[in-house]
Amino acid sequence: MNQPRSGMMPLRQHIAGDSSTNMSAQILDGKAIAAELRVQIKGRVDDRRAAGQRPPGLIVILVGENPASQVYVRNKRNACEQVGFHSELMQLPADTSEAGLLAIIDELNARDNVDGILVQLPLPAQIDEGTVTERILPTKDVDGFHPYNVGRLVLRQPLLRPCTPKGVMTMLAHTGIDLSGKDAVIIGQSNIVGRPMFLELLMARCTVTVCHSRTRDLPAKVRAADIVVAAVGVPRFVKADWVKPGAIVIDVGINRLEDGGLCGDVDTVPVSEVAGWITPVPGGVGPMTVATLLENTLLAAELHDKPRS
Ligand code: NAD
Repeated sequence: MNQPRSGMMPLRQHIAGDSSTNMSAQILDGKAIAAELRVQIKGRVDDRRAAGQRPPGLIVILVGENPASQVYVRNKRNACEQVGFHSELMQLPADTSEAGLLAIIDELNARDNVDGILVQLPLPAQIDEGTVTERILPTKDVDGFHPYNVGRLVLRQPLLRPCTPKGVMTMLAHTGIDLSGKDAVIIGQSNIVGRPMFLELLMARCTVTVCHSRTRDLPAKVRAADIVVAAVGVPRFVKADWVKPGAIVIDVGINRLEDGGLCGDVDTVPVSEVAGWITPVPGGVGPMTVATLLENTLLAAELHDKPRS
């Protein structure tokens, strides 16, 4: 095993004031790793400017006034500002038609200073998400959801990769552990997390099992895993007695509790007494998703710089 890289610290230190529990897991600090990534991205943006090139440009489209979406969009735009990207928010009314949204995407596809187009999901019922996703030019699809980009990931020729799974891979790299041959279990099979996570881990040469709501004896499958990725949407779903000692546990879940707090899909404190590595919520996968969106936007800008034949 290689030496762990930065962005890791014992969980005891991370949960301030808690000295009573017997925690053994090291924390994969998404906030710190994302900050490191942003510094690297800002350096590349500064180099572009110094070379007379324009900064990467991201357009975020928000249809309607979903409060959670408004928070996500604000975080993404703040992150763009921090690294020197050009970013614009297009706030559209909730009754925007599908044809109206598609016309805006066509216009943005044609604009030279737009490298990334992000349509914040979910969309109102009158707009089909699949149709909208497919309308975005694949080289501007910084969410990585277009069938072209998903297909490239299937073929092990990734271009723009779905942000959350790619962000998880960056976190796994920070453990310094060679993933090749490891047994991985993903809980959840959604298009935005579970399925692309499967492709990423397979590409890293893990043996991957994807579990979902119809999976039989889930605890036994999780117990066999060196790497567990939980993307279920159920608070504290993964229990300590499901986890193999020393396993890497990645918690993708973001669940709002009745008291207004946030928790993940993993029962973090007891699981961290068993696991070798664990991601916190908040401050784990969430910041990595946003930082990976910036990475994708920079990559898209670099693709657009290349002369077209
Ligand atoms: P989803 O609802 O689309 O998918 C949930 C999956 O969990 C489904 O595949 C379902 O089969 C599976 N599931 C449900 N109950 C189960 C059970 N009892 N046993 C086994 N599997 C079960 O959700 P999603 O969009 O993939 O998101 C999952 C979680 O991740 C949510 O909490 C979401 O908020 C969070 N999320 C976080 C980020 C991030 O950046 N951190 C990004 C996307 C989603």
